Amino acid sequence: MGTIIDGAHWADISRQETAQKVHALKKEGVTPHLVVLLIGDHPASASYVRGKEKAAQSVGITSDIMRFPAETEEQVILDTLDRLNQDPLVHGILVQLPLPAHMNEQRVVARVAFEKDVDGFHERNVGALSIGTNRIVPCTPLGVMELLRYEQIDLAGMHAVVIGRSNIVGKPMANLLLQANATVTICHSRTKNMRDWTRQADLLVAAVGIPRFVTADDVKKGAVVIDVGINRVDGKICGDVDFSSVESVASKITPVPKGVGPMTIAMLLSNTVRAAQMQQQG
Ligand code: NAD
Repeated sequence: MGTIIDGAHWADISRQETAQKVHALKKEGVTPHLVVLLIGDHPASASYVRGKEKAAQSVGITSDIMRFPAETEEQVILDTLDRLNQDPLVHGILVQLPLPAHMNEQRVVARVAFEKDVDGFHERNVGALSIGTNRIVPCTPLGVMELLRYEQIDLAGMHAVVIGRSNIVGKPMANLLLQANATVTICHSRTKNMRDWTRQADLLVAAVGIPRFVTADDVKKGAVVIDVGINRVDGKICGDVDFSSVESVASKITPVPKGVGPMTIAMLLSNTVRAAQMQQQG
């Protein structure tokens, strides 16, 4: 039976490290400040945003949530972002996704100054990651890398298979694993005979969005399995990995909940501090 990777524990350790950095910044007269824009009344988004606010508070980061009705014109959001970009007391800006259908997500995300883009979604941050001059890296894949570091998993030479190629998880995940000298394969919705790839994986990362998609038959014995998925089934949260069957094949595995999820929020805090540090250094 595989060891369960305790994401909640490691997120706690990460928050302690971040709190120390916040303390150091405050000594220099800088209080890292995060502004979250919440547009519309998506219930899951509202709960994510509350979680982010609470987590920020726990490490000494101050935060504001700016709430806008769903019918707000895009221009109002763009003007707000312009103002926040100019405000020296704001270090991190996050636009909670998804946006209402009438807004152009790419245009809105691109308007956040890349220095304050704590989600790491701005083209300049994405570009930096792809050429290995990382600035701000998307929270979820960064959280996975931190989990692997805490668990002392040496990725060099490992065959890492990532299922999913989204801009927020799959692609940046693959880039980070490549930077850590893994041999990386990306599988996606058009991959043929996917099991042929996943069964070769020393490290398997599932970011698919389909409940319990990865089963024991997809996994090589002794592989490390990271489940990024968050799916709601019958009112309960489950991952993209069929935990009960895969647990007996994997050497290490993240549960859902309390696996990657807590690390994602911890990385938002860490990114906010990094943004404040970079702005401080000029
Ligand atoms: P997405 O829908 O943008 O991307 C899903 C990817 O899976 C796509 O690239 C697609 O090609 C691939 N895919 C779909 N069907 C497939 C199939 N049958 N076989 C192989 N590949 C297939 O989703 P996302 O934003 O990358 O999120 C993925 C999952 O991770 C979701 O469950 C989401 O809720 C979760 N998530 C969790 C966190 C966290 O903090 N833990 C953060 C972001 C996303």
